[in-house]
Amino acid sequence: MQYPEPIAKLIDSYMKLPGIGQKTATRLAFYTIDMKDEVVNEFAKSLLSVKRDLHFCSICGNITEEDPCEICQDTTRDKSMILVVEEPKDVMAMEKMREFHGLYHVLHGVLSPMEGTGPEDINIAPLIQRLHDEEVKEIIIATNATTEGEATAMYLSRLIKPAGIKVTRLAHGLSVGSDIEYADEVTLLKAVEGRREL
Ligand SMILES: [Zn+2]
Repeated sequence: MQYPEPIAKLIDSYMKLPGIGQKTATRLAFYTIDMKDEVVNEFAKSLLSVKRDLHFCSICGNITEEDPCEICQDTTRDKSMILVVEEPKDVMAMEKMREFHGLYHVLHGVLSPMEGTGPEDINIAPLIQRLHDEEVKEIIIATNATTEGEATAMYLSRLIKPAGIKVTRLAHGLSVGSDIEYADEVTLLKAVEGRREL
């Protein structure tokens, strides 16, 4: 039996979300049919809004409603340090810790020869540009403790160090293979405090 087209389309849409297969997508689609009109409207509006109202900060690449983002605009922050992360959600994790007062740079990915992701595919060039423009003394690389995260850290280190800027890497209170976003605040704080020079 074929599903009516609106349901088939909704199932296809749900299946584009990470970790959702056909079975879950079908269950969600039928659940949606039973939801109240206003709830579905809100849902649809918020889906459109995250794409329409959020942008990437032209300086650091973080997600923001205004450009530059709040952190880049904050004159009280320490401009001598830039902490480099893979994704915007890592910035949120770091900010929750409340102990880091420098600036950020979001790469939007990591280098991955396996998946064909090279330096030009992630947000590296604007980071190098910032080194010329700003009074940066230290780059703290906080990519995840995965093979790709490590490779990206080494690549950045080789790129940045010749400019006479200190490059450090978060300490491995973070276990191997672990993601920054899931680390608790104490672990993150220790990882920042125990950072080592690359
Ligand atoms: Zn920014």
